[in-house]
Amino acid sequence: MKLISTNPARGYDFLGKISVTSNQKISTLVEKARQSQKVWKYFSPKERAHKLKNLKNIILKKKEKIAKVITLETGKPIREARNEIDFTLKYLDFFINEGPKVLAGKVIPDDRKDISRIDFEPYGVAAVITTWNFPLEIPIWGIIPNLIAGNSVIFKPAEESILVGREIANLIKGLKLPPGVFNVVFGSGVIGSKLVDSPIDLVWFTGSTKVGQEVYRKSGIKFIKSVLELGGNSPALIFKDADIKKAVGEICRSRFSNCGQSCRAVKRLFVQKEIFDEVVTTIKKELELIKVGDPLNEDTDMGSLISKNQLHLLESQVADAVRKGAKISFGGKRPSGLSGAYYLPTVLTNIKKNMRVYREEVFGPVLPIMSFKNEEEVVELANDTIYGLSAIIFTTNKNLAARISKKIEAGTVSINTNNYLKPQSPFGGYKKSGIGREHGEYGFLELVQIKHTYFKK
Ligand code: NDP
Repeated sequence: MKLISTNPARGYDFLGKISVTSNQKISTLVEKARQSQKVWKYFSPKERAHKLKNLKNIILKKKEKIAKVITLETGKPIREARNEIDFTLKYLDFFINEGPKVLAGKVIPDDRKDISRIDFEPYGVAAVITTWNFPLEIPIWGIIPNLIAGNSVIFKPAEESILVGREIANLIKGLKLPPGVFNVVFGSGVIGSKLVDSPIDLVWFTGSTKVGQEVYRKSGIKFIKSVLELGGNSPALIFKDADIKKAVGEICRSRFSNCGQSCRAVKRLFVQKEIFDEVVTTIKKELELIKVGDPLNEDTDMGSLISKNQLHLLESQVADAVRKGAKISFGGKRPSGLSGAYYLPTVLTNIKKNMRVYREEVFGPVLPIMSFKNEEEVVELANDTIYGLSAIIFTTNKNLAARISKKIEAGTVSINTNNYLKPQSPFGGYKKSGIGREHGEYGFLELVQIKHTYFKK
């Protein structure tokens, strides 16, 4: 059976096909990964990182080709695809330089003269199952730290981004790691499910909360570790004392880049009532500047969504809102003259709590805006979601920001900026946005077992 890759920004044209990995092959790869891990685990983290060091050069040499594959397969503007590669390289530097330090092990103080040693040991075989929205960056976030931690890896890319998945496999092949340490399988969710059912020791998963719950349930029954990076319905709060122009710029970058398909994007905007009209007007002015078009054009700001399915889902969420009384203040339809999964940047007002755009994660360029009166009300609104990935607060009052930040139920809260994702900072969700963290020291510590050795003198 073959998986077909199509171009969502050019009439779903055929791009390529890849064979689905058979069940038999998955079993063989898992066994191979297990055998090779028995050797890989005795390399020190530093030696493992050293073996991965050349990946940066390999990526840099092929940068333009990789960017083009990302754009063709996802509909993401070529400038954003290049940014994704640059961002990935920053993380790669961090993983390779800092990972070995985090994982080096240490001696901890003991009240006698004996020695207490802490070592970080790998779990074994890790399944890295990922989504399509950042098809290079997210897999690298999973694959590389796992390898440095001493796990062998079986990677399953999303079926919407198999060609980028194949690129990643080829890039890593160029490193000439011991055979079986890194493996890739292709297929739909059925193959992801088969992989989770296989005798693996850890799942590193990025995707929807629905599938994450299934992965978590299975991992629980098998008693294996799972790290889950899931959906979000992140709020942004603008208080009346905020710098409105700056806040609007940051919110538009968050909501409308990657065609609104980012887990951490602002998905609900709450504006203090005194400045509501001014904020909506400023957002509309900003959106008039966004050029929607062919993502291969250098001056395109917004390309297409990933697929027809995603477009239909988005349209049904907007239609539900309109039916329940929402007002389309900007956009609200497909642009004319473009063939593919295109949707205009959209602003909705008159939002009510029973609307799907308020309750569900909206994975597309649609921003619902609501007003609030005071601190108490906006905290209640911000936390009124099953998700807890991130939140942004805009205010010039530092005390207010600190007070609100403490009350927000989210893994990341940022103040006056959308630019908070850093290789050294932990990222992950509260509530149904996930379990565990990625990036930074905490991200590495998810991938290892902690061993205490006590030496009696
Ligand atoms: P899905 O959960 O549908 O898919 C994610 C991956 O899991 C894909 O590779 C998919 O395969 C695979 N999969 C599907 N079913 C199963 C199963 N039963 N067992 C194991 N694996 C399975 O998510 P989407 O691709 O739709 O991704 C969008 C979601 O990802 C959004 O909710 C977004 O917020 C979230 N996300 C979270 C991030 C974070 O860091 N918190 C970052 C980026 C996105 P296939 O695609 O082939 O069906």
